[in-house]
Amino acid sequence: MRKILFAFCLLSIANCLLAQDLKYYLPDSVTCNPAIPKPKDIIYHEVGEWHITHDRLVNYMKAIAAAAPDRVKLEMMGLTYENRPQVLLIITSPKNHQRLEEIRQQHVKLTDPSQSSSVNIDNMPIVVWIGHSIHGNEPSGANASLLTAYYLAAAQGKQIDELLDNVVVLFDPSFNPDGLQRFSTWANQHKSKNLVSDPNSREFNEVWPGGRFNHYWFDLNRDWLPAVHVESQNRLAWFHKWKPNILTDHHEQGSNATFFFQPGVPSRVNPLTPEKNQELTAKLGKFHAAFLDRIGSMYFTKENYDDFYYGKGSTYPDVQGCIGILFEQASSRGHLQQTNNGLLSFPFTIKNQFVTALSTLEGAKALRKEFLDYQRDFFKQSTNRAAAYPVKAYVFGDKNDKAKTFEFATMLKRHQIEINELPDGWSDKDFEKNSSFIVSLNQPQHSLIRGIFDKTLEYKDSIFYDITAWTMPLAFGLPSKEITTNPTLGAKVESLNFPKGEVVGKRSSYAYLLEWDELYAPAAVYEMLNSGLIVKVATNTFEMQVGGANKKFDYGTIMIPVKMQKDDAETVAVKVNALAEKYRLKAYAITTGNVNSGSDLGSSRFANVTKPNIAMIVGPGTNATDAGEVWHLLDQRMNIPATHLESSVFNRVDLDQYNTLIMVGGNYGELNKDKLKAWVQGGGILILTEEAVSWAAQNGISDVKFKRVRSATDSTQKLTYTDRVEVEGAQQVFGAIFGADADMTHPLAYGYNQKTISLFKANKVFMEKSKNPFATPFYYGSKPLQSGWVSQQNMDAIKNSAAVIVNTVGSGRVINIADNPNFRAFWLGGSKLFMNAIFFGRNIDAASARTEE
Ligand SMILES: [Zn+2]
Repeated sequence: MRKILFAFCLLSIANCLLAQDLKYYLPDSVTCNPAIPKPKDIIYHEVGEWHITHDRLVNYMKAIAAAAPDRVKLEMMGLTYENRPQVLLIITSPKNHQRLEEIRQQHVKLTDPSQSSSVNIDNMPIVVWIGHSIHGNEPSGANASLLTAYYLAAAQGKQIDELLDNVVVLFDPSFNPDGLQRFSTWANQHKSKNLVSDPNSREFNEVWPGGRFNHYWFDLNRDWLPAVHVESQNRLAWFHKWKPNILTDHHEQGSNATFFFQPGVPSRVNPLTPEKNQELTAKLGKFHAAFLDRIGSMYFTKENYDDFYYGKGSTYPDVQGCIGILFEQASSRGHLQQTNNGLLSFPFTIKNQFVTALSTLEGAKALRKEFLDYQRDFFKQSTNRAAAYPVKAYVFGDKNDKAKTFEFATMLKRHQIEINELPDGWSDKDFEKNSSFIVSLNQPQHSLIRGIFDKTLEYKDSIFYDITAWTMPLAFGLPSKEITTNPTLGAKVESLNFPKGEVVGKRSSYAYLLEWDELYAPAAVYEMLNSGLIVKVATNTFEMQVGGANKKFDYGTIMIPVKMQKDDAETVAVKVNALAEKYRLKAYAITTGNVNSGSDLGSSRFANVTKPNIAMIVGPGTNATDAGEVWHLLDQRMNIPATHLESSVFNRVDLDQYNTLIMVGGNYGELNKDKLKAWVQGGGILILTEEAVSWAAQNGISDVKFKRVRSATDSTQKLTYTDRVEVEGAQQVFGAIFGADADMTHPLAYGYNQKTISLFKANKVFMEKSKNPFATPFYYGSKPLQSGWVSQQNMDAIKNSAAVIVNTVGSGRVINIADNPNFRAFWLGGSKLFMNAIFFGRNIDAASARTEE
């Protein structure tokens, strides 16, 4: 019966596609205030007739706020990379608006165990964040936001009055404005007057990189925890300002599916999420089911999707006393698409999202006290959880890399995690007072801190929707330590004061030294090279007198001689001082070339650094997020320009202007491999990551051998037809953290101080170590797993494999990096390796990289 009803719905939708109006979407019973503009009055088309562009979406939200100021207040959260506004509507009853700040403060008190007992929740509104289309090419959410905003602003009567009295809605029409704009432009420009539903049509097949991602081709639905991007940072500030009870995350899935709402797969809930969270998720689910039943829409729950990785919008809230809800609507992608379930129209997808936004609000109203109680209790329990947990605090900090330490501390503070200075009398020499912090686990964000610091090696399931581990100190390559006794804390850190840069001794007529350990040292060196300075790198260690004391300088120390330059000493001094200040680095003005031990400054052990002229292969076939990570690293962090070459352009242009070429994971079938090989032979530095390593080896460009993975099944096992999904799924490498041992004297290891470098692996590229013992500067030992889940078969392949191999090809070098050193832009522990490949790849001795036999 339901099936027939569903088919009937689809048919009637298809019939009235050209004459869409709000009656199709809105509940029959509702009357609307005529003073509130309908979407068409502002955006010039009916909802679902065209894809909403972000600018028109914002116009409508502004119009609503202007027409219904007693119900709707518009706030600017910030701007995206492409300067699009991230707007947030606060929607509630006129009565609540009059005391909005008081409501907010009372509500936030619930999350503070020292104050929450006294808060009376009898008449307290529940706070619900409704969020849309974080993947820009999953547009039904953002398009539905027009309807939900209209309904909440315009509906009249007892039902809406009661709803708005009991709920404060934080309404986020577009989680990813830049992606939505890109996608809507694509879908609209391909729309025919006579809708074409053939999935092969261009309308349904976006050009690379598609609208899913933000400006830098990142998946913003993995960034809630690392919060690398402005969109996440702006949003998190408002999340914590209000501490919502429910957060919805409206997505789309494959076109042949129906509609999914959480709860997801029970065995894949992160163990830090309380069971009560899933109970409440299920209670709310009853409302979604009832509302979808009413319009004849099919749906499923408890399958496919999970609540494991806290970097996703529907999971991040779960570790903070809030309930995140994932919605996944089958995508029409364009305006009307033929699917296994018949014709799927864009308006139908929008309707489901609208209906489940309303079911969320209705459920929130009905379950209001239970959610508020749960939130209060969640934070109250933090004290008990802290008492029961053996780790009492974490210390973190890198005295050699203050920038990285402060990036980490900034990330913690975005999540309202309290951090403290080290106490007076601190005696552990590994952590210094001005470059380290301590985090107590006895604080309201106890669970989230564990979600950031925990190493996990035990799992209930062997299939994951996303990565299995993200232990942040390992990702940042940041020294950290567990403290298991109740810690003494130093002063609470209210605001972070990033240490200033300086040149010790200010001016020199001889040379300057700059250590390579700091995160942003490559940015400074690039600017030096770009301004024409001669820059050298120490391939040996040395000790010399600086500031009245003997100081050891490590491999990779940068030396800027003064008299060799075209610039006079004063100009050199101005440049070096300005860069030390800009990138907050410590440099040393040196008056002699005579060292106490090791190589003198005039030694040939100081090698010239060449300015990298970089191109990266992008476009169809290339993994967009991997390429985006490189773009973001070079552009946002390092201020280094790089040309993005599509394969077709690569094949026809002169490559002489580039000395460094980057290829990330992907399929490079269209690339002219002979031309690439000739370019490397001529002296180019080719940096390969992940599957690009396998591609280059298969095409004779590099010389790497691979380990085989033993099969997980054989003919002796008794397995059923339905076991296959589990057995095969478990053989994927979803993503885990492995420690590689580094040859600390190798140019690719310059700037590292810990011998074990944590790398992130989410692929099946298992390299054999090179026969040349000097050509494998990073390799995995016999117990490399640090955190995460991997099958025994894959584990066996990773053991004793190579993480990085350097080959010579003619006079060029190929740097093969099996894993992703730049993962999601928070893997700062790998960025150094990647920047070393860019700056020092050409300094690697040919004899140390020769692999031909
Ligand atoms: Zn999505």
